[in-house]
Amino acid sequence: MSEALSPEATEVADFLLSEESYITFGLGKLNFTLAGFRVDTQGYREIGHKIRQGAIEVRPVESAPGSSVAAVYTGLLDRLSVPAGLDLHTPRRRRIKDQSMVVHEVTHALVDFHRFTTTGALDEACAYVAGQLYAMSLGDLQSSSRPRDNAIFTASRTIVQQRRMKFVPGAVLMASDSDVAALAAAVRGHTQAYPDADVRRTGDGVHGGLIDPWYMPRN
Ligand SMILES: [Zn+2]
Repeated sequence: MSEALSPEATEVADFLLSEESYITFGLGKLNFTLAGFRVDTQGYREIGHKIRQGAIEVRPVESAPGSSVAAVYTGLLDRLSVPAGLDLHTPRRRRIKDQSMVVHEVTHALVDFHRFTTTGALDEACAYVAGQLYAMSLGDLQSSSRPRDNAIFTASRTIVQQRRMKFVPGAVLMASDSDVAALAAAVRGHTQAYPDADVRRTGDGVHGGLIDPWYMPRN
């Protein structure tokens, strides 16, 4: 018990529970439903508590050279792996991009927490929309020099723009909507990164820690 959190865990939890106005503004925009899964700002803060309690482990990942994997959430282990020495607070150019990456991965943690059943492609679509919405709300943009990654970022940008998600909370995105289908297709098209895009899966929950009585699992 009371094992010290990793520096990365402290960094991610401090970000999710931040009182800094621009961060609360960005996280405050995360309010939409995609393919039946509701993303809400309160959930990101709940995951911050889970990390502080040690119920979700955050550890550094050493990505292989040439790999595009910067961060990953592993639902069965309740584990978030992020770049070693992740720095979400020191002012610098990459800060919002790195925060957006964390928003993406924490969206996967939320799907797990709520034990939601979805496909790999729709799980990713939800996470990409959340990350892009956070970035765009703060005047930045998620993009990539790698074509397959950038196709996904472009499709998520189209959704955020066309649905005016920076301005209108509570967007309801259906899997059958053409823009959502295009994003899911872009994820599916990146077979190297998402080989299991069409497999249905159910989050097994986040175990351990205390549950905020005002934020209970929905299923
Ligand atoms: Zn993802």
